[in-house]
Amino acid sequence: MPRNITVELKCRYCGESLSDESHPVDGNPGIKLKASLGENSFFVWLSSVFGSNNLQSEAQFKKGDIVEFACPHCSAPQTSNKKCDVCGAPVALFKLTDGGKVRVCTRSGCKNIWLDF
Ligand SMILES: [Zn+2]
Ligand SMILES: [Zn+2]
Repeated sequence: MPRNITVELKCRYCGESLSDESHPVDGNPGIKLKASLGENSFFVWLSSVFGSNNLQSEAQFKKGDIVEFACPHCSAPQTSNKKCDVCGAPVALFKLTDGGKVRVCTRSGCKNIWLDF
């Protein structure tokens, strides 16, 4: 069994960590983000285990919905101008605290995630 790789993300604008120790997912601090879907905005906590699709959310969203992510500290949108090469949805871009970047497709259920070092 390979060891789970966990990632710690930070906002690329304000530099604040997105880890929320008070809200674990998969036994690790969750990655807290402000999410918006149409008129609704709510918080989600993504798993910090790389490749895990587990998340907790204050609101339900359907498979195929495109969710916009923003920083819970400075509210800057984390969406980049890149598009997912699988489904064409916008891609959110985060910084890793130890350098490098991670891109996550914003379409629920797409599961496209990749690391840039
Ligand atoms: Zn921020
Ligand atoms: Zn996608």
